[in-house]
Amino acid sequence: MSRGGESAAPDLACPSAPASPGAGLLGLAGPDGRIAFLRTLMQVDAEFLATARAAGRPEARMRFTHRCETSACRQWTGTSCGVITRVLQAMAPETVSPDTLHPCTIRGTCRWFAQEGAPACSACASVLTDTRADEPA
Ligand code: SF4
Repeated sequence: MSRGGESAAPDLACPSAPASPGAGLLGLAGPDGRIAFLRTLMQVDAEFLATARAAGRPEARMRFTHRCETSACRQWTGTSCGVITRVLQAMAPETVSPDTLHPCTIRGTCRWFAQEGAPACSACASVLTDTRADEPA
């Protein structure tokens, strides 16, 4: 579905979305904080999220995907997602060939990949959506 004024823009998926019912579980953070991507996208429901929140903020240890909200998101710059731009500026990830990227369930519709290409995937596993200290949710 397209939003007003962006009829030509394809619907893309945010790879760092809030944990909300209907979101897809993209991956889980390992002990080193890096995301291990799931082979199959799992849609989460309210019950899953309630259980997850009992152990703290889900976004601090899981990555979720949902529709990119473009201008309805505070990370939207007006033309693109500011998150992956800042991540790439900060990390300068190594150049990778698109042929050697790790599997990802949303690459065909991912906002970050559509915007930045393979470097986004190279940096992606290092991104946690919620990096606040563990405080009450
Ligand atoms: S940036 Fe790459 S690895 Fe990360 S979610 Fe998008 S397609 Fe997947």
